[in-house]
Amino acid sequence: MNSCNLCEGKQLYKLIDFGAHPIAHDYLKTPSNDEYVHPVTLYFCETCGHIQLINPIPPDLLYENYVCLSSWKHQPHIPRLARIIEELNDIKKTSTILEVGSNDGRFLQVLKEHGYKKIIGMEPAHDAQIAAGQKGVITIPSYFNKKTAEGFVENYGHCDLFISRQMLEHINDLKDFHDAMDVVLSPGGFVVFEVPNFNCSLDTLDYTLWEEHVNYFTLETLTRFLAYSGIKIIHSEKILFSGEALIVIGKKVDIPLEPPKDYMEALRAKAINYSKSWPKFRNAFIKYLDDHKTAGGKVAVYGAGARVNSLINFVGLGPYIEFIVDDQQEKQGLFVPGSNLPILSGDALEKYSIDLCLLAVNTESEEKAISKHPEFIKKGGKFISVLPPSELLPHFWKRLIEESKI
Ligand SMILES: [Zn+2]
Repeated sequence: MNSCNLCEGKQLYKLIDFGAHPIAHDYLKTPSNDEYVHPVTLYFCETCGHIQLINPIPPDLLYENYVCLSSWKHQPHIPRLARIIEELNDIKKTSTILEVGSNDGRFLQVLKEHGYKKIIGMEPAHDAQIAAGQKGVITIPSYFNKKTAEGFVENYGHCDLFISRQMLEHINDLKDFHDAMDVVLSPGGFVVFEVPNFNCSLDTLDYTLWEEHVNYFTLETLTRFLAYSGIKIIHSEKILFSGEALIVIGKKVDIPLEPPKDYMEALRAKAINYSKSWPKFRNAFIKYLDDHKTAGGKVAVYGAGARVNSLINFVGLGPYIEFIVDDQQEKQGLFVPGSNLPILSGDALEKYSIDLCLLAVNTESEEKAISKHPEFIKKGGKFISVLPPSELLPHFWKRLIEESKI
């Protein structure tokens, strides 16, 4: 029987069954009809409100071909994060800092430049470890779990600052993560967590889930998660990154913390609305593109990231789209998993007379993407966004958001 990844409660309510889909970041060298597929089903825990995928893809399979280095992503909030850490008076330049899921060491490199001396990353992906090594960032080549946490303490002692950025949402076993964090963090130590803010997805009907994200946190459920480890949130803020992200700073306190409960009713109502809006959203999206195609228009997508790859497969948008363009050369010439759409370079928008381009870049990168295509706009081409919380979402989407408000 399934139990909640956060509280181990047994009462799980099925929000949305998206069907079985291939791994969104496993780009194909040639089109394929026999990819590995895995069911994507979203649940709500009636005990703690945690929204999650049940029976997620095993990590070994999921991260086998992981080809997304942090440095490829535009992360304008990094200086802000570094500043938040500098404002923590108890964290000195000689404090021990551990970042788990440190990817190619990009953030730790920034801390290094700020003068922090004892910084260590932990990262299982091979390509990312190599890239981190080239930056001079010490990286332990493993997943973060109780065993590797114990190994860390043996070699480096407890850490004073524990950082986990865009990682907790991937964890299939939150209890083990708890136990590992309890092992590694010094008494009175600090944590920095950055996770996608699912509250924003609920509010904007954002169905661009990643099957690699098992956990869909809101501030309330993240507070609860940290309370289990005796960590009290001392600061939180929202930033635009890959949708909206939550940044929280927590401090380990000695007293046991009672998990908060008063949010359940409101969160449940929101989650149910999100679930009920899904079939309406899917039908409206297909109608929107079908109408455009019937009128002789041609549609392409700008940006072949995992979020839009999933959205195309979940909604079934593939037959209405000509191709995807992406500025990242490593992706050009490959095919999108599931939909099998080819990935071309940006000039294909003008070359193949596309007149509607679905922007699938993060909101913070939208302006830059549009500015690269003055010719497309001059010829009457139109950009709309398919990644909330953009202002450029199509009208049907904005209408459904209004309708779904409680
Ligand atoms: Zn739960």
